[in-house]
Amino acid sequence: MNTENVDVLVIGAGPSGCVSASYLKNNNIDVKIVEKSKFPRYVIGESLLPRCMDHFEEVGLLEALKKQGYQVKKGARFLKEDKVCNFDFSKKFTEGWNWTWQVPRAHFDNVLAEETQKKGVPIDFENEVIDVSFDGSNSKTTVKDKDGNLKYINAKYIIDASGYGRVLPRLLDLIKPSSLPKHSSIFTIVKDINRPKGNEGTLITFDIVKTQVWLWVIPFSDGTTSIGFVGPTEFINSYKGSPSERLEEMLQLSTYFQSRFKGLPHVFEPKIIQNFSTAVKQIYGEGYILTGNSGEFLDPVFSSGVTFATETGLLAAKMVAKIIKGEPTNLEKEYVAPVQFGVDVFTSYVNEWYSENLQKIFFHQPENTEVKKKVCAVLAGYVWDKTNPFVKKHNRVLASMAHLIDLEVEQQQKEC
Ligand SMILES: Cc1cc2nc3c(=O)[nH]c(=O)nc-3n(C[C@H](O)[C@H](O)[C@H](O)COP(=O)(O)OP(=O)(O)OC[C@H]3O[C@@H](n4cnc5c(N)ncnc54)[C@H](O)[C@@H]3O)c2cc1C
Repeated sequence: MNTENVDVLVIGAGPSGCVSASYLKNNNIDVKIVEKSKFPRYVIGESLLPRCMDHFEEVGLLEALKKQGYQVKKGARFLKEDKVCNFDFSKKFTEGWNWTWQVPRAHFDNVLAEETQKKGVPIDFENEVIDVSFDGSNSKTTVKDKDGNLKYINAKYIIDASGYGRVLPRLLDLIKPSSLPKHSSIFTIVKDINRPKGNEGTLITFDIVKTQVWLWVIPFSDGTTSIGFVGPTEFINSYKGSPSERLEEMLQLSTYFQSRFKGLPHVFEPKIIQNFSTAVKQIYGEGYILTGNSGEFLDPVFSSGVTFATETGLLAAKMVAKIIKGEPTNLEKEYVAPVQFGVDVFTSYVNEWYSENLQKIFFHQPENTEVKKKVCAVLAGYVWDKTNPFVKKHNRVLASMAHLIDLEVEQQQKEC
């Protein structure tokens, strides 16, 4: 059987895998990617956060992306009944990128993969990892191509960036249930012929249509728009009929968007992802490291998935480069601690979103500009800036703020 040798094997050519492999190649490390699909391939996750621009820039993938004419995203808008809260990324506490993109992922990921190949990283498309065995940190990976032919890849280190494929978590029994409640989503892309003129395209909108249920609206530069509902799994499953019928009926929950999207042709039959939150027992072991969705996925509400994938992809590559070069590394301190901190911050925000404390803060009038700037930095993905009290004290600050708002409202009611 065909056997190859490589220093680092990256599983998956999504954003996490491409950022990892690009960094390694830039640092003269022998790296290759194996990718199960043929690109371009569809994947969900179209609204980016400014923070991920730092990662693409650092590994030299940004210039190619800039040429694609993707929809520029400058902020986020939250709607609930007649209330509106806008976040403008140029008004955020933490220094950094003020904008990013909303991208059709099939195209975007294909550009990333092509640029990664141009750097000299070989990508074996339509090659699926089906097994891995370890001898210390050296690994032997079994790969099956689309015709069913098998080959082995010997690697000194594996970066598992396989996203929802979760290759090593499955093979090494690392999967554990997420602490988050079971939520699901139904989504498609529509030809957005009724899109209003103006800055509508530059925002992602979150329309809270019901307690715990919200609709995302992500406009693209080609005139199509991604729409999707997220909510408790029983709620999503309570709608009957074909996926198109279910989505169409759910649209009636949105006073803001129902007339704009009603009856528009779907670019594809709506897809459903059930119980998307996942977690793992550990994010590294001897000879491997997990990045992006392969490790943890929380919730789509703050569009943090791709940014988390590129943040962890880059950091993991830095660790692996040191290991391959024989330099000292402390994965607990340099990888697990920062990754866990990011997960913890986003988990607090996800929990307080569904507890509705965060919504209280968003829609409170008059707006508190200082609070908004700090929350905006989190929404832009700058969740490692501990000078931001809304990052550092993430587990207390939101509940405390919401409590103060409750007291204020109570006081106002007494005075009336
Ligand atoms: C409903 C929903 C909405 C979302 N919306 C957003 C959003 O608006 N913004 C955002 O940033 N994120 C969003 N996300 C999250 C986003 O989808 C992911 O976080 C992101 O795609 C993760 O990137 P990745 O590089 O880790 O994995 P992926 O992009 O999934 O790439 C992994 C690659 O690995 C390959 N692979 C899998 N198995 C194997 C195997 N056995 N062998 C070889 N290759 C393999 C796959 O084919 C794939 O190409 C959303 C998620 C959900 C569920």
